[in-house]
Order: sequence, then structure tokens, then C-alpha cells
Amino acid sequence: MGKKIVVTGAAGFLGSHLTKELIDEGNLVIGIDNLLTGKSKNLIDRNSEKFTFIDMDICSSELLSHPHLNGVDEIYHLASPASPKSYQAYPLKTIEVNTLGTKNMLELARKSDAKIVYTSTSEAYGDPKITPQPETYRGNVNTWGPRACYDESKRLGEVYCYLYHALYDVKVKVARIFNTYSAGLANDDGRVISNFVTEALTGKDITVYGDGTQTRSFCYVTDTIHGLKLLMEKEDATGEIINIGNPAEITILDLAKKIKHVTQSSSRIVFQPLPVDDPTIRKPDLEKAKRLLNWEPTVSLDEGLKATIKAYKDKI
Ligand code: NAD
Ligand code: UDP
Repeated sequence: MGKKIVVTGAAGFLGSHLTKELIDEGNLVIGIDNLLTGKSKNLIDRNSEKFTFIDMDICSSELLSHPHLNGVDEIYHLASPASPKSYQAYPLKTIEVNTLGTKNMLELARKSDAKIVYTSTSEAYGDPKITPQPETYRGNVNTWGPRACYDESKRLGEVYCYLYHALYDVKVKVARIFNTYSAGLANDDGRVISNFVTEALTGKDITVYGDGTQTRSFCYVTDTIHGLKLLMEKEDATGEIINIGNPAEITILDLAKKIKHVTQSSSRIVFQPLPVDDPTIRKPDLEKAKRLLNWEPTVSLDEGLKATIKAYKDKI
């Protein structure tokens, strides 16, 4: 017997991938999205008896009495712009969805006695002063800058989760997701792998911001989704924050070179100004994920990039 599962942000990159897997596993999925940064084509072919789409802002208080949201078993709360390009285009909406929207989804979980996974971010660590970053690291975050609408609102979203667990015993789990990729990222998403692959395949300059010495650790989408599903499943993860990411760290310049090489592109690598507050390092400590979820990523950057580039080639 399938479960009744809510996915907020179902038209987005991770939400659409997760929705597909949950439907294929025989669950009934209620997707909620206002298409702020998601694409309606991500929802095509999902209108079956296993999928219902609600085109609404998750901050709306009317959602709580929506007839399709009775008797929900699980809530994956993914709605929020995630690319710096998107959250800086919609800074106030980003704050609202991660604070008011998160509170609304926690209320839904409380009302339905449902489990809820909130997708926070490695950005909660800001520009970290230690590496790798364990969940106990409190971060080095700036309230006064263009990234604050995202990282500080995710941090406040986590506070709501903490409180609903402490005050009302809601079965909440928080994932701090590190940079995830696949060809599911739209070409115009703005995040680095979609930019570099699109640029390399179309012969445009590959645009490295800053000198490219900043690092990121990239996780392939199937690994991240698997981690989120285990987080939902495992009792021991209730009331916990857990990193979900791949610990293989790479500089952005090396990433550009790798993508240029794999695509056999004649594109030039060029340098543009580093955005304000761009973190210098990022690498997850996965001890807690291994211990509580028995999870670690399995797809290497080389394998993931190969699959991503092949699929982008078909799209372009
Ligand atoms: P995305 O932008 O592709 O998808 C987000 C979806 O949320 C979009 O479909 C958008 O329309 C929807 N949305 C935004 N505001 C909404 C609102 N008020 N009401 C209803 N729907 C709304 O982003 P993504 O990469 O799929 O990320 C999903 C979640 O995972 C986000 O919460 C993000 O912060 C988190 N996350 C992602 C990554 C990553 O690398 N992809 C890393 C860290 C955290
Ligand atoms: N970046 C880049 N060129 C691009 C897009 C991003 O050099 O076209 C850099 C960006 O400055 C950051 C890293 O790549 O250092 C990852 O950026 P992204 O927007 O993917 O995610 P972030 O980790 O910053 O949220």
C-alpha cells in the first residue's frame, strides 16, 4: 500500500526528481509549487491517479484546509529558490518561503501527525572557517549581504523545525544539502555545473568567477535523493540535522578544466568578478549521515559529469 506524500517545490530540480521516484514506488504524491523558479514541463505526464498538483504558494494559510491535504503521511519540504541567481532575484519571497512557508508545512505535519523533512543547505555554514563541516559547526554567516536572504532564512527555517519538534513533538528531520547536480538543472538555472556544461557545449566562454580557487563538493542527484528518502525513513534521524553531500572537493577552476576536457570543447576559460560573500570552501563531514542513515554517496564526479554532459547534449 503506497503512502500519501506531499512534495513542496515539486516542479523544481530536486522536487521533480523526488516526485518521480516516489510515484514509481507506488505512492500517491501531492505536489505543491507556485512555479516561481520551477518549470511546468517538469510536471508533464504526472497527472495520473498517483499525482495531484496544487498550484499554490506554500505560505498561503488556505493550504492547511485544502481537501487534498487530509491524511498526509509524509512531507518533503523543498520549496525555495536555490540558485544564487534565483534567490537574489526574489530575496523577499525566499525569506518568506523558508520561514512562513516552513511554519505552514510544520503545521500541516502537526495536524496530520506526518513526518516532515526540511531541505536546508550547506549555506547555513556561510563561509566556513573549518573543513570539513560537521553539523555541530555553527557557521560564519553574514546578515548584511546578497546571500543573507537565503542562508539566514534557511537557518530560521531550521529554528522553526527545532521548535515544532521540541514544543509539539513533530517528527521533523533537517537535511543540510551540499551542491547537487545533474542534467535536471535547467540550462538557465545559473548554478555552476549547468553554466559550465552549457557554455562548453555551445562553444561560449566558460565563466569562472574570481580566480577559481574557491572549492565546492558536488553530489549527483540520485545520491542526494536517496539520502533524503533515508532521512525520512529512519526513526533515529527524528529531531536531527544531517549533512547530505559528496565529500570529494574540487576547485572551481579545476571543475572548469574538467568540463572543458570531457566535452572536448574549444571554449576559452575566462575570469569574471567573484560575487560578494561567495564561500571559499565547502566540504561535508558525513560521519553523522553514515552513522544514522547508513548512507554515503556512490556516484563519483567523473561518472556524474559524464551522465550530465550526455543528457545536456541531447537537450541542447
Ligand atoms: P529549484 O529552484 O529548482 O526548485 C525549487 C522549487 O520551489 C521551484 O519549483 C519553485 O517554483 C518552488 N517554490 C519556490 N517558492 C515557492 C513557494 N512560495 N510556494 C510554492 N513553491 C515554491 O531548487 P532545487 O535545487 O530543486 O532545491 C530544492 C530545495 O533543496 C530548496 O529548498 C533548496 O534550498 C534545497 N537545496 C538544494 C541544493 C541543490 O544543490 N540543488 C543545495 C542545498 C539546498
Ligand atoms: N561559479 C562560477 N561560474 C558560474 C557560476 C558559478 O565560477 O558561471 C562559481 C560561484 O562563484 C561559486 C561556485 O561556482 O564559487 C558555485 O556556485 P553555484 O552558484 O553553483 O552555487 P553556490 O555554492 O555558490 O550556492
